[in-house]
Amino acid sequence: MKRSTPWVTIGIVAAIVGLLTVFMALLYNWQLAASVAEREQLQRRAEADTKMFADDFNREIQGAFFNFQVDPTKVVAGDASEIAARYDYWKQNTAYPDLIDSIYALPSGAPLVRFDAASKTFAPAPTDQNLAKITEKIANAGRATPVIDAGYALAVPLMPFEEKVDTILVRRSPDKEKAVVTADAPMELPKPIGHIIVLLNESVIKEKMLPELAAKHFPNGDFKVGVTDRAGQSVFSTAQIGETLDAKASLFDLTPDHLIWVANREMMPKRPPAGGDSEVVLNQRIERRSTLPDGPPKVEGGETFTIQMKESGANRRTTVVTGDPLNDSEWRLGVEHTAGSIDAFIRGERNRNLAIGFGIYLLLLGSIIAIVYSSLRAKAFAQRQIDFVSSVSHEFRTPLAVIYSAGENLADGVARDSSQVERYGDLIKGEGKKLSAMVEQILEFAGARSGKKQYNLVAGDLSAAVEKALTDSEPLLKEGGFDVESNLSDNLPNAKIDREAIETAVRNLIQNAVKYSNGTRWLKVSTENGGGAIKIVVEDGGIGISDADKKKIFEPFYRAKDVVDAQIHGNGLGLSLVKEIAEAHGGKVSVDSEIGNGSRFVIEVPLV
Ligand code: ADP
Repeated sequence: MKRSTPWVTIGIVAAIVGLLTVFMALLYNWQLAASVAEREQLQRRAEADTKMFADDFNREIQGAFFNFQVDPTKVVAGDASEIAARYDYWKQNTAYPDLIDSIYALPSGAPLVRFDAASKTFAPAPTDQNLAKITEKIANAGRATPVIDAGYALAVPLMPFEEKVDTILVRRSPDKEKAVVTADAPMELPKPIGHIIVLLNESVIKEKMLPELAAKHFPNGDFKVGVTDRAGQSVFSTAQIGETLDAKASLFDLTPDHLIWVANREMMPKRPPAGGDSEVVLNQRIERRSTLPDGPPKVEGGETFTIQMKESGANRRTTVVTGDPLNDSEWRLGVEHTAGSIDAFIRGERNRNLAIGFGIYLLLLGSIIAIVYSSLRAKAFAQRQIDFVSSVSHEFRTPLAVIYSAGENLADGVARDSSQVERYGDLIKGEGKKLSAMVEQILEFAGARSGKKQYNLVAGDLSAAVEKALTDSEPLLKEGGFDVESNLSDNLPNAKIDREAIETAVRNLIQNAVKYSNGTRWLKVSTENGGGAIKIVVEDGGIGISDADKKKIFEPFYRAKDVVDAQIHGNGLGLSLVKEIAEAHGGKVSVDSEIGNGSRFVIEVPLV
């Protein structure tokens, strides 16, 4: 039968696989683009959250710092009333009323005094090592130092009142003396006439402010937050943090950007772009702040701010200050993604998504292959069943025709004498036997296949069963003029066998040896004990079987193409039945054959 190449199937499969591959490529590209976008978004978020964290922190520190810029003459005169008022105001407005531990005043050339909040007066300061260190540092600094390194002390310079703004500006310049005062508004940088020292509460900062801010700005736990001091020592961290930070910001930053809060919390303009202007409210006065595009001065790596105090007439003053907001602060806030870095996280995510996509792609591809394979198999099987029906009909046709014509001759009285009648009778009997053998085999196959067939396995002599099959096949072998060798071992150990089934199997093998003998009329049947099993071997010198066919001949309905072409009758059920029987005994059947050199079938039955 002509088997057409399934071009349609091949086309459909190729189209599906092609589409899948295109989808996969699109997915890959989309994933790459998405990961770039996600990376940027995550980076922006990290930077924004870090900045808000720092702003929140700095606002508190600046509140504590700028709040105490009081009239210096009162402080020098020992009047604490303004400090008291400022302190009360600050307490009402801060989120951390415990942040300030204590307040001291240190007018130049006078002893240190402590502000007593209860009596709202100055009292003599206790002798304290830490305080001594702070006052010494202030004396040695020689300039305004708002934050005393790691001492948790803010030193607010007491400036001549009208110069107050400059006290803020000067802070940002690491080289105060180099700050350029522009020509149109010359102004001497003022000298402090003393300091207010605000001591901050270390534990409030470390145990309250920083943890609360970390939880507020990084609530998802996808970023690690760490704060280090000037020396690089860790002050606070939510987890071990590496060197490759995803975002950073300055803490204890008193740059002019944050100044505005002191006067007006709601007005927080961003630093204007280079050359741009923005108006800010500073200590109740409107002042203009502009960034010089390229004018003097520039400190290496620093930024330039210009603050112009907008006063009428000749009093207009401009002060230029420089500073590097990131490197000139006491503490550095750094955040790092828990995956090591945002890049590492994005890479990991992208690889995972791609792996899942690729896995799905392979799965779909595998499913397609499995579907095509099984449908081709089903198709081949259906074809074999059709072939089976037609070959069985053919098989039936010949004996039926013989029976029919013998019967007709008898009925017509063609055969008159008893010897003729006897011959016709034998003929009908022989063909009838063939027919019933064929029907028997089909029924047996159907029974075995349906799973309803019960094998009655009992201890028995295998050689005897094989001998019986040989005897049953004698007429067939004689008719073909076969030279039969048999080597049946008579001391085989007992095996559990269904005798009838074994006989059927051996008969089938003998019939095949006869059918596919190709003129070589030799056959050998033997039994032997070997390798933990008893073997039945049926050998012939017939046409042999090709390697490709060897894999399929035990499948139901399968017949080699050359035997179909040579019109050797058969239904393709014999060997599948042999296989079924061998397996029902817990054994197996195998074949060893070469085209033109005969075949050797072996049934193995395991020992009890
Ligand atoms: P059938 O003999 O009715 O075709 P079987 O299931 O007994 O069906 O055998 C299947 C196929 O195996 C045969 O069609 C034939 O191609 C091949 N075959 C079986 N026995 C032999 C043999 N002894 N020599 C060569 N080919 C064989």
